[in-house]
Amino acid sequence: MKRRVPLPVRDDQFFWDGVAQGEIRLQRCAGCGKLRHPPGPICPWCHSLEVRIERASGRGTVYSYVIPRHTAIESDGDPVIVALIELEEGARLVSNLCGVAPDRVRNGMAVEVFFTEFEDGVRLHQFRPMEGSA
Ligand SMILES: [Zn+2]
Repeated sequence: MKRRVPLPVRDDQFFWDGVAQGEIRLQRCAGCGKLRHPPGPICPWCHSLEVRIERASGRGTVYSYVIPRHTAIESDGDPVIVALIELEEGARLVSNLCGVAPDRVRNGMAVEVFFTEFEDGVRLHQFRPMEGSA
């Protein structure tokens, strides 16, 4: 399956570097300790410019999802599930949900991250149901 190549900017380069290393990274304010997500250069609560980068567990739940029906999304015939994943750290990420039939997806379903290499060397995070939750 062909995917668009992520185009990192300075504020989210750490995230894509993490994906390349097989991990989900989050930004936490070093001033007040709150999760800074989506990532940005300044804390919206305490205005600190200092951050810590943390490795997320990769576990979470399905917060919401859609099954787009658009010819621009190539899926080799399998339905693509686009999910908003709520990580156990509290941040929400848009990703694909794999390994589950569309009619089995439920909000609140426990999921875990995995990483897939696509064409052109693009590596992306994906999620799948945690064992026993599908
Ligand atoms: Zn802060």
